[in-house]
Amino acid sequence: MDLQDRSYEIVVVGGGAAGTSAALSSARARRSVLVVDAGEPRNAPAGGVHNYLGREGTPPGDLVAAGRVEAERYGAEFATGEVIAAERAPDGDFRLTLDGGTAVTAARLVIATGLVDELPPVPGLAQRWGREVLHCPYCHGWEVRDRHVAVLGTGPMAPHQALLWRQWSPRITLLRHDLGELGSEDRAKLDARGITVVPGPVEGVRVEADRLTGVEVGGHVLACDALVVAPLFTARLGALADLGLRTEPVWRGDTPVGARLPVDASGATAVPGVWAAGNVTDLTGNVISAAAAGANVAAQVNFDLVEADTRADLRRAAGQDPFLVREREVADLVAGERRHGL
Ligand SMILES: Cc1cc2nc3c(=O)[nH]c(=O)nc-3n(C[C@H](O)[C@H](O)[C@H](O)COP(=O)(O)OP(=O)(O)OC[C@H]3O[C@@H](n4cnc5c(N)ncnc54)[C@H](O)[C@@H]3O)c2cc1C
Repeated sequence: MDLQDRSYEIVVVGGGAAGTSAALSSARARRSVLVVDAGEPRNAPAGGVHNYLGREGTPPGDLVAAGRVEAERYGAEFATGEVIAAERAPDGDFRLTLDGGTAVTAARLVIATGLVDELPPVPGLAQRWGREVLHCPYCHGWEVRDRHVAVLGTGPMAPHQALLWRQWSPRITLLRHDLGELGSEDRAKLDARGITVVPGPVEGVRVEADRLTGVEVGGHVLACDALVVAPLFTARLGALADLGLRTEPVWRGDTPVGARLPVDASGATAVPGVWAAGNVTDLTGNVISAAAAGANVAAQVNFDLVEADTRADLRRAAGQDPFLVREREVADLVAGERRHGL
């Protein structure tokens, strides 16, 4: 399908759970919608999606593919590619350029680009991400229940992480790694729960027969079945930042968690006409909450378009020149941007 210069009421950037769900709801609301997706969802390395009611354990690609078929049934379109340039055109629409050079326009944008997991720089760790290197016990805890789980101490939340994972296994080791001496309260809690603490920096991971079997610490190998890490979660904006979108840091207590794209309760960003859903704005969300957010945002976008359509029809009914009607719409958008200090 040749998309060059095609116009849509809604373009969704990102076709994971959030974006595909937004497309399904938008298409069912009889909006023309295109999803542009680079095809790298965050959970791609995982074997299954867990805690998704009705689809427990489905491979991540299968879940999104099923959603895509459903959305296409109602007329949603999908394009594979990365949005590499974005600007507000003089007529108020958004113009997006894909990596292949194709450009499309949209009256409204939904950003569902997810986040980037920044992993600790331990050699070999990134290659096992999503398999035996894990972060979320709700996603993976059951799969490693009763196994030996090591927790990499990269920040002050590590003792809490070790206590959390203890719910899934009695065999937990906290690797102090970057942590200094533990406080007496943390120490007492870990001791009470039977969690072993190992000092010294982790120098690498041990892999045998395509499985992580241990970590290298202090010149020794500590055998373990899984390694828990705390990535920094960074909203993936890329070229969309050129629209004036800015991320904000997210903290848990004194610990930085990452950076999110801020939105209001309706999912609207600070840039008029641009909404966001999923991990790009909710760093700790999961697949089912991303899908829910996509559906909710689609309803908000549809309502915004209903209001715009109504304003335009009112002006037409009042006998205004169609060109002036469009000019007025653009003026409203620009005034909205000024209100937001853009
Ligand atoms: C290893 C791992 C396992 C997980 N397991 C589970 C689990 O079992 N259960 C669970 O509920 N959650 C799980 N999660 C969390 C889950 O992956 C996320 O909550 C979910 O993927 C968020 O959906 P999303 O649509 O916001 O983003 P994503 O699924 O990450 O999708 C974003 C999409 O946008 C695309 N994109 C980004 N930038 C652009 C651009 N400029 N142009 C075009 N496309 C772009 C990406 O390529 C990607 O396809 C896991 C996470 C990880 C890391």
